[in-house]
Formats: sequence, C-alpha cells, structure tokens
Amino acid sequence: MQLFKSQVLKVSNSLSGKKEVFKPIKEGYVGMYVCGPTVYSNVHLGNCRTFMSFDMIFRYFKHLGFKVRYVRNITDAGHLVDDADDGEDKIAKKAKLEQIEPMEVVQRYTVDFHETLQKFNFLPPSIEPTATGHIIEQIEIIKQIIKKDLAYEVNGSVYFDVIKFNENHDYGKLSGRKLEDMIANTRSLTAQDDKRNPQDFALWKKAEPQHIMRWPSPWGDGFPGWHLECTAMSTKYLGENFDIHGGGMDLKFPHHECEIAQAEASTGHTPVNYWLHANMLTLNGKKMSKSTDNNIYPNEIFSGDNKILSKAFNPSVVRFFMMQAHYTSILDLSNDALLASEKGYYRLMEALKSLEELETSSKTDFDIKHWQQGCYDAMNDDFNTPILIANLFEAVKHINLIKEKKEGISKEDKTLLKGILQTFIYEVLGLENQNIVEGNSGTLSGVVELLIDLRNNARANKDFGTSDKIRDELLALGVQLKDGKEGTTFSLNS
Ligand SMILES: [Zn+2]
Repeated sequence: MQLFKSQVLKVSNSLSGKKEVFKPIKEGYVGMYVCGPTVYSNVHLGNCRTFMSFDMIFRYFKHLGFKVRYVRNITDAGHLVDDADDGEDKIAKKAKLEQIEPMEVVQRYTVDFHETLQKFNFLPPSIEPTATGHIIEQIEIIKQIIKKDLAYEVNGSVYFDVIKFNENHDYGKLSGRKLEDMIANTRSLTAQDDKRNPQDFALWKKAEPQHIMRWPSPWGDGFPGWHLECTAMSTKYLGENFDIHGGGMDLKFPHHECEIAQAEASTGHTPVNYWLHANMLTLNGKKMSKSTDNNIYPNEIFSGDNKILSKAFNPSVVRFFMMQAHYTSILDLSNDALLASEKGYYRLMEALKSLEELETSSKTDFDIKHWQQGCYDAMNDDFNTPILIANLFEAVKHINLIKEKKEGISKEDKTLLKGILQTFIYEVLGLENQNIVEGNSGTLSGVVELLIDLRNNARANKDFGTSDKIRDELLALGVQLKDGKEGTTFSLNS
C-alpha cells in the first residue's frame, strides 16, 4: 500500500538544522546510506542504538510503501586510531596484537555484529558493502579530485586540499563550523607532516613497509583514507545525489563533512538531500568508555553477566527501552530505566494477548481511526517513537477498560485494532514477543535465584547429590544453569 501518498513525513535535516518535509528524489523510492561499524571489536551498545534508530527509520519507510535501498557499509580497512589521519589502522593494530590476519579480525567481529543485530531483530540492509571490496572505486574518486586540482600528492600519500575547496564551496556547512575558526584552533604542522594545511585530510596514505593492509595505486602501495570509502560506496549504489545519509552524531565532523567535500569535489554537486544523525547512549549518566569500566556490551545485558545491572534483560526489552527515546536525544541507560521499560514492554505484550480474548459488543466506545492517525502523526514527526509508544498505551488503556466491561468494542474494530497494534509494535518498532524469564516474571527469576543459592550451599557442603538434583530438575523444566566466573546464571530453553 502506498501510504506515503497520504502521510506527510517530516525529518530533522542536520544540513539545514530544520525539520523538513521529506521529498524523495524519485517518487516512491528512498535511497539511504548509513555509516556502518569498524569491525575491530565487539559491537558497542552505543553503536547498536545508532543502527537501531536507522533500522526503525528503514522499517517506517518500508511500512509507508516506499521501495527502499538501504546501504550500510562495513569498515574493514582505512580507519585509523586517530581521526586526524594518524596512528595505526584499527584492524591492523588488533591483528598484530592477537597475531592473526587482519581479515580474521574482520570476520570475527563482522559475525559478532550480525549476531548481535539479529538478536535485536534488525532487518538486514539491502546492501552491506565493504571498504576493501571498493578500493578501485576509491582510487577512481581520488583521480577525479586530483583532476579538479582539489587534492595533491606528497611522498606517496594524497591529501584533500580543504583551503582550496573552501574557496568555491562551504567546508563546515554540515557541522556548522567555519574554516577560519578551525584554522585558528588547530595546532600548526610539524616538519614531518606531508599536508599543506592541518585541515587537509588523507584520501590515500602511503603504506610504510610494516603496514600489513596495503594495495597498489598510481601513487604507490598504500591504503585509502577512512572518509573515502563512504563516498565511493554511497555513490556507487545510490548515485551522485541520493535521499538520506545517516550515522551517529559523532560522525558529523570530520567524517561526514569530509564525505560532502569529497563528493562535491569529484562530482560537482551535493551528494545528500537529508542528513540524519542519531544521538548517543550514556550509561548511568556518564559517557560509556572501556577505559573507565563505565561500559556494557549487548551480550552482557542479555546474559545478566555484568556488574552494572541487577538482572538479565531480553533484547526486545532493550529495544523497547531505546525506542522510548527520540533518536536525536541523548538516552541514559541504567538499571532502573531498564526495569521500568521491562514493565512497560510486558504491559504492552499482555494487552496484545488480552485483546485476542476480548468479548465484542455491538458498538465501540473508542475512536480507532482517530487514534490510528495519532500513531502516524507521531511517526511522521521525525520518527517520534516515544510519542508513538504513548499512543500505543492509550490503546492499552482502552483494552483494559473493555476487559473490565467498562467500554465496548465491535468485532470489526477488534480486528482493526489488533492489526494496527501489531503493525506498529512488530513491523515499525521491530519488537518481538519474547516471553523470556530473565525478563518478565520477577517471581520466576526470584525462585530460580533461590534454588541457585540452595544449590551453592549444597555444593559448599559437598552435598553433590542435592546440587546435581537441583540442576537436573531445573533443566528438565527448561531452566539451564550456567556456572561462570561471576557466579551462576540461568537461561530458559525455549
Ligand atoms: Zn561513513
């Protein structure tokens, strides 16, 4: 159904700083590019939030009836430790550390990325290209930029000439920075620097003899600059001008600014109509960071194996928690916040179940069509999922009133309401009905925790008969205990 013909969608465009009506380049089609992960470690929960925001956006476009080509890349080369073109390649560094091939690092963490996203019920993108699969395209773009005299080669590396580009273009227009301020605030170049200006960025870097990830090029063996891959892959699969480019807020500068510069320099026109940025996730009010231990991985949340949360939470609860905030707002994860979301999530799932069993009557005391448009209005207002969820709970309130026979619903309206709820809950928000213990039932997890305690006491007293009996009988009931370093955890075998 071409719902997009009757719904007016507005999106927050970082380029204009305004909420704008979304008009695709080609009616009925959406081209969307999102910067994917650099696969050198397990996927970070903050990154999951960014990708989840765009998964929801992808889902809503599809729901509106658009044909969407969604491209989300995998960065498997070229991303250096320091965003200012310094330091080692993140993947090569990890490979050296673990004494394995860079492509083994890439494979391991690409698999982890996909597995984690699958747990969160992400839809796969239409294309998931890799940087190393597009070296030729990247070299071609560099040649174009050199031809336009906006890049220069020094000692086997090629740099983008930001100062020269800015003479006829606006470098900084996405991030709201002025080149003069950037110049005033940057350190001056050292004698070892090949760049003409500190603001210039690498399109191609010469590979030193010890650099293991290297490709031949007209400028000698080297590797592409990080920003270039996204220009190469977005242009290749979506064209020189496409609808939406997304990513985390932290990528606005320099990454996305440089993407615009590269594209404008090579093609002569602006690449993206709408730039969408997802905000960050904090943990207990502070920035997440591996070095300070204020950090948690998705799998640690699902297993309960962590020092931050009081219990395990299933992926759909975490997804629901993330959907309760607008994607452009900072969201803070805490034990209390997750517990509250868990309650809300199960109330929603319970209501869906009660709806099935509702007795119908001759008339409906609830304006379902009006309520439905309210759900669309929320999503049409820059994908406002918290307002959508508030609307869904409005329906939950009515379901409960109907259940208590304080209101009525007709047979047709019951079917209609069920369809709309399922559409928004499963299709648009991407939630699943996960009746996992760890989640819902405080009672069940309490009982299992009690048995785990009793079993630990038995083991401490060398009463292995009792401890094995507890383990085996729980297993027979579908509750599997797992003994780990941090103690015993459990999961439900469904
Ligand atoms: Zn990118």
